[in-house]
Amino acid sequence: MKVVNFLLDKIIAPILLALLIPVVTGIGSKASTGNWFEWFASVPNQVWITLAAIFAIWILAIAIRYRIKQLRKESHSPISIISVPYGGWRNIGKLKYADVIWIVRAPAPPWHELDPEPISAYDLDLQTPPRCPKCETEIEQTQSFWGGYIWKCVKCGFHKRNRESYYREEERAKKIARRDFEIYQSQAKDGQ
Ligand SMILES: [Zn+2]
Repeated sequence: MKVVNFLLDKIIAPILLALLIPVVTGIGSKASTGNWFEWFASVPNQVWITLAAIFAIWILAIAIRYRIKQLRKESHSPISIISVPYGGWRNIGKLKYADVIWIVRAPAPPWHELDPEPISAYDLDLQTPPRCPKCETEIEQTQSFWGGYIWKCVKCGFHKRNRESYYREEERAKKIARRDFEIYQSQAKDGQ
């Protein structure tokens, strides 16, 4: 980001000055010949090409600055209310979704002692960050400048791009986990 800050600080001002050249040329032309455009014909093409390039860089710098601002806004993780059940969590399974592994957990015993009802699909929770599909290390997430996210495993080097953050993917994986659990429960019931 240092390079971008340097560009913004040190290059924008000269670019703005450069953009004054056509304005000054026009005014000079008007003052000496009475025609706004007389002087422009005598300006070599290279000058126009250079000005166009400078203008393009200027637009790009604005776009970069806008994107950086946006990234700073997005980089805050969503606020979630974390309630830890009495007795903590117990890992009950793994789910593969979005090319990574999600640890599915449920309130640990003594839930059955406090609550006679069996565990519901809505009690399930998924751990974030998700785990590496190769070595099950927790995934590291960084935002990509071009949009989306990069997920990386610090242990084995696995990495992938993902459009959504793992907070968003967790919500989706949770829906699948709940449904899988409901199916599992109904099968267990039928088996009795
Ligand atoms: Zn790994």
